Amino acid sequence: MYTNTYIDTRSVVATDAHRGEPPVFSDVILEGIAPSGGLFVPKVLPRLSLQEVIDLATMPYFEQAALIFERFGVDLPPSQIRALCHQAYGNNFDDPAIAPLHSLSADTHVLELWHGPTLAFKDMALQCMPLFFSAAVAKQRREQAGRAHDMAGLDYLVLVATSGDTGKAALEGFAGREFTNIIVFYPQGGISELQQRQMLSQSGVNLGVFALEGNFDSCQAAVKGAFANQDFRRQLAHHFGLQLSSANSINWGRLLPQIVYYVSAYSHMVQEGCLQAGSPLDVCVPTGNFGNILAAYYAAEIGTPIERLLCASNSNRVLSDFINTGTYDVSAREFVITPSPSMDILVSSNLERQLFELTGRDGARINQWMEALSKKRRFKVDRATFAALRKRFLADWVSIDETLQTIAAVYERYDYLMDPHTAVGYKVAERLRGPNPLLLAATAHWSKFGADVYRGLTGLAPAAPLPKPLANLNAVELDAYIAEHFKHAGDLPASISALAKVDLNSEQLIAGGTSAVEKTIVDWLRQKKN
Ligand SMILES: *Cc1c(COP(=O)(O)O)cnc(C)c1O
Repeated sequence: MYTNTYIDTRSVVATDAHRGEPPVFSDVILEGIAPSGGLFVPKVLPRLSLQEVIDLATMPYFEQAALIFERFGVDLPPSQIRALCHQAYGNNFDDPAIAPLHSLSADTHVLELWHGPTLAFKDMALQCMPLFFSAAVAKQRREQAGRAHDMAGLDYLVLVATSGDTGKAALEGFAGREFTNIIVFYPQGGISELQQRQMLSQSGVNLGVFALEGNFDSCQAAVKGAFANQDFRRQLAHHFGLQLSSANSINWGRLLPQIVYYVSAYSHMVQEGCLQAGSPLDVCVPTGNFGNILAAYYAAEIGTPIERLLCASNSNRVLSDFINTGTYDVSAREFVITPSPSMDILVSSNLERQLFELTGRDGARINQWMEALSKKRRFKVDRATFAALRKRFLADWVSIDETLQTIAAVYERYDYLMDPHTAVGYKVAERLRGPNPLLLAATAHWSKFGADVYRGLTGLAPAAPLPKPLANLNAVELDAYIAEHFKHAGDLPASISALAKVDLNSEQLIAGGTSAVEKTIVDWLRQKKN
């Protein structure tokens, strides 16, 4: 069994805070963020031969995942990795391929990442990561048994800030898991009605859901603030026996499962004759926190012949501006609410990992840029880094009007209904693509965003009220209407239909900011104890 260690993006040699040894996968999945405030990356990236990539297509998805996890040096026995992957990728997905390909034309292929229980690509990671999280807790307990240790025996409290899809996927993944509690915070009014319905229908003793005043960025900042507050962490350990962790995509345990589907997609495209073995593929990803596209970058780094990465932004276009100018600037940007709310993000946490890689893993430079970002709200990369970025990435953004128009255009041209996030990706790919075959990451099923999909299909303006009989429908009823009246919409997924009947908890709204988040957590834990 091969075990990899991890370094962090802000210092060159990291040591695990608990043991004075370099951290391994189980440590980083539990810790989420490095003690320096940086992000963990594997010390060594594996390398698959072209033949190994091609051969993946002969295995079921879970075996592909297990193989890649092993090659990344996850510190669990191969038999356990296999068992966990088997549990993660089974009939909890509504397609046996798990992440099936849908070809729009001979050279444009959609990778459908929304066949999991919450209908967004977050399930690809969050049906898997909580299983490895529990395995890591169990391993840590075994190792700490008999050793005097200040953190020994503590349970975990997983905090999640969500722009809509992560929250429900994390609740699904962590519900009922041993040694773990989870609290999700979402920006009030910043998510779709269906996303809210999904979260408010979740029940379980180990989970809490709260709406925060403000937008996703302030929500994420408030949660990060609680993380960084050592007094608060001591209070949680002392009074409640809990330590904090994160299920956001800063956690390497989220990223690793996402690398799998890009390697897998390449092998299936070769198998199905859409690609010659070894010929280059371009990948377009609708992006917010830069996690999903970073996974495609790592898939290329470990041997998948992916050439260009096309980064697609909505009107919150800080990432595409960065890729086009080399300056990341959030100092004078207005946060825009769009039909693709899961990409309504300005401070993109995973870009830090990308920069770390593009600078040849120069932690000192990452420190400077991240400090500039936090103090001046902007930073500019040097010439060499910009050149390295331009070599791999292209980027553009799509307005709200164009997003809705693209849904209709694709529907008419290909008889295929896309959600607004995927439509952003489609439009950018159309503009930027070159001669290579293109793979578009489809990140959500259309039914999560029924109202905007309906506006797109019928040419209504963004935010326009829906016509009379439809205006009174709830999100699930509207989806049923769309599925019935637009013949290429396909059947409504079972998990959506089921939402029509469930009882909803009422929304619990709290003020924004770290101290409100901390107080909410403590109140929730007290109530739970009693
Ligand atoms: C989270 C999400 C995105 C953005 O993904 P990142 O990894 O944060 O870039 C895009 N589309 C949908 C539907 C999402 O849920």
